[in-house]
Amino acid sequence: METGFSIKNIAVKIASRCNINCSYCYIYNRGDHSYKDQPKFMSKEVYEELINKVQRYCFEKEITHFRVFLFGGEPLIAGKKYITEFVTAFREALEPDIKLSFAMQTNGTLLDEEWITLLRQLKVGYGISLDGDKEVNDANRVDFNNKGTYDKVLSNVTLLKEHKQPVGFLSFLNINYDPIATYEHFKRIGASTVDFLFPDANFYNLPQDLHHTEDEFDWNNTPYGDWYIKLFDKWFHDPNPKPRVRYLNYLLQIILGNEVGYDLAGTQPTELVMIESNGDIEAVDDLRVCGDGFTRSKMNIKSHTLLEAEDQKLIRLHNSSKQKLARQCIACPAREICGANYLPTRYGKKNGFNNPSVYCPDLLKIITHVRDAVITELKAAGSPLANELEPMSYEEAREMIALNLAEEHEILEYEEELESFR
Ligand code: SF4
Repeated sequence: METGFSIKNIAVKIASRCNINCSYCYIYNRGDHSYKDQPKFMSKEVYEELINKVQRYCFEKEITHFRVFLFGGEPLIAGKKYITEFVTAFREALEPDIKLSFAMQTNGTLLDEEWITLLRQLKVGYGISLDGDKEVNDANRVDFNNKGTYDKVLSNVTLLKEHKQPVGFLSFLNINYDPIATYEHFKRIGASTVDFLFPDANFYNLPQDLHHTEDEFDWNNTPYGDWYIKLFDKWFHDPNPKPRVRYLNYLLQIILGNEVGYDLAGTQPTELVMIESNGDIEAVDDLRVCGDGFTRSKMNIKSHTLLEAEDQKLIRLHNSSKQKLARQCIACPAREICGANYLPTRYGKKNGFNNPSVYCPDLLKIITHVRDAVITELKAAGSPLANELEPMSYEEAREMIALNLAEEHEILEYEEELESFR
């Protein structure tokens, strides 16, 4: 069956365990236990088969640029020899016909001089997971003795800066802490980029302090939106140099008419699958927040092709989810910017994925605020683009959703698919 997308990114779980134990981790601490059935490391036999399948798939689909994310758990626990052999095997088999990019997300606790040199030689990009200053970070990012990881990570960040490496961070936004102090902290430690992610959550696994249901949103309950708006107001007017805040940066780009492939915003599919350490092919890991074993697929790289994987039910939905929006999102004036956020945040036991994001009011509030700030700036700069964008407040956007929803609607042919995951 034609899926309408191609897999251009794979996240390869070279290590299925982690050396630390973050309280919010969706892999180990949010109700999914499938990691226990996985080998600790992906074997050479499995990744050689994976390389064969990627090569064949790229050839069949005429793909000339392919991204590989080294994923965990914590990928660095695989060791230097393993990662060297893994990256080299991929490059030897696929380049120069297929341009490869490698990236990883690390908790940063194991980095040292040798890792920094090796990753530079192998051309593997990486970001560090850190939630903010010591108090914010160590509230959740702890080792197996419940000891915070901040001091260790910070000493390695200093090392990276001595090596003149740009340091990008991935951070879970924490509404218990002040966004401006958190942002100032990242500035102080020399961050080049910070991506503040919404906590992995949905209607089944509600985020802290949100009490929406699949039937009803409380439009005044927007702690995440309020957090992001405070951050935006500081960041947007902050003079350069300043860190790039990824989510806000992408919102600005989309508002200005550019297309971006980003899970959390916009309408472009991310075209990604996950390969478990035993070779199982699954949809993105964050979907584990929907329940124990939720991403299991019965497909393995030894017995299935990536072309077959494209058509696996959950993989297909994840990669086409921006085109399969719930009715409220179709009625929403911000849908092209929001894209209903991230598929895992739409899940509930009643409607499956046939919901807006559980963060909907927060998102609508952020987007209308950012859009208005952009229009004001464009007008001040005398840009003709300002005439193409009509200002719209949060309240006006909500009214428009209600008005559009009250109209008669055609049948959405994908609703059954969205609800089949209940
Ligand atoms: S703001 Fe809400 S209704 Fe609008 S697209 Fe996003 S999730 Fe859907």
